[in-house]
Amino acid sequence: MAGMLRPADPPEGTRRRGSLGGQPTTTTRGTMPWPTERDDAVFDLIHREVERQNTGLQLIASENFTSPQVMEAVGSVLTNKYSEGYPAKRYYGGNEFVDEVEELARQRVCALFGADHANVQPHSGANANLGVYLALLEPGATVLGLSLDHGGHLTHGSPVNISGRFYDFVSYGVTPSDERIDLDQLRDLALEHRPAMIVAGATAYPRAIDPAPIREICDEVGALFLFDAAHIAGLIAGGAHPNPVPYADVVTFTTHKTLRGPRGGCILSRAEHAAAIDKAVFPGLQGGPLEHVVAGKAVAFREASTPEFRTYAHQIVANAGALAEALSEEGCRLVSGGTDNHLLLVDLRSVSDELTGKDAQLALDAAGITLNKNTVPDDPRSPSVTSGLRIGTPSVTTQGMAEPELAQVASLIGRVLRAPTDTAVLDEVRGEVRTLCEKFPVY
Ligand SMILES: *Cc1c(COP(=O)(O)O)cnc(C)c1O
Repeated sequence: MAGMLRPADPPEGTRRRGSLGGQPTTTTRGTMPWPTERDDAVFDLIHREVERQNTGLQLIASENFTSPQVMEAVGSVLTNKYSEGYPAKRYYGGNEFVDEVEELARQRVCALFGADHANVQPHSGANANLGVYLALLEPGATVLGLSLDHGGHLTHGSPVNISGRFYDFVSYGVTPSDERIDLDQLRDLALEHRPAMIVAGATAYPRAIDPAPIREICDEVGALFLFDAAHIAGLIAGGAHPNPVPYADVVTFTTHKTLRGPRGGCILSRAEHAAAIDKAVFPGLQGGPLEHVVAGKAVAFREASTPEFRTYAHQIVANAGALAEALSEEGCRLVSGGTDNHLLLVDLRSVSDELTGKDAQLALDAAGITLNKNTVPDDPRSPSVTSGLRIGTPSVTTQGMAEPELAQVASLIGRVLRAPTDTAVLDEVRGEVRTLCEKFPVY
């Protein structure tokens, strides 16, 4: 498959149809012929990235490997088309096929999650959230969101993000005792601040989020309920996490994390908010939609509706559980004591007082294990240093790894964390990572 991702140079002067959507890759016809000389500077780097993804362990919780069909759609001629507006309501002509692509995407995602309405145009998860705020809040409105260092996202009110600049976010957090979302605190803050909206959802929270009690709090104070399912959309689609759609007014998510589609965002809403949300995404926030990515989303939504994807979603969770158990045996303390979803957070202070998230990330990367440093609740270190690691299983599960491999991964991680500056250990682990990954080829 690697060949498909980096098509070979065609013979000079020939018009060749590539495998990615049938578009020509080179021609000498026309007044501006496509260059016949291959842009090695770029394609060599892409080739090296393919190698990196194939030979190392990809454990970043927000990443995944998308399918060849998704990539084929994203690499298609739909990138050439302007289609500002929505199906059957476009500003430019020539959108008859684009309309059908976007309509397919909308119908498939509504069926997948049981939603009234979908907007599939947000370029990213951040844009999806911003579109919702723009649609449903007045500037300066009060909103509750999970605090960043307890696992929330930048778009949930961080002062360095537009959400925190334009809206008055108040943070709730996790309890000090069990490190789970503190619903009592959330309710107290809601009664005190009377927010226009409560945002649930997280970027680094290892437990399931039950939407039912949050809906009750929203009803008690008259707040709208936004559930940001960016990380867990694939788990929801696969039935491995409770579906927030029946509870929340709006659900946003990214399409590229557990859902395993192309990089992008999506908004699901109740019918009563549909018009406001569509207007906020375009013309409020974005210009022309990326219809090649919308096509990739449509492909991914179909893939996510299959029985195989249900099995996949449950295996992601089982793998995270196996990793959590084995890392605990390695002596790592896990935030909240374990995981219900696709990720876990290691509190590195349980390994060593000196070891920071930053140094651990660098050492693991040198050993072919890619993951990210992360704050733990009430982390004394800064977000660029941190005392924790976030580890996720969506990518390795796509590769076909299961519980025995995850136990092996935990032991490799443990070896690096115990000797992060020992280059002999890092080299040895690098070799074992390579051997493991060779058994589970991706592309
Ligand atoms: C990843 C994430 C986002 C943002 O998605 P991008 O596509 O990176 O903009 C928003 N919210 C949460 C909870 C996330 O985890």
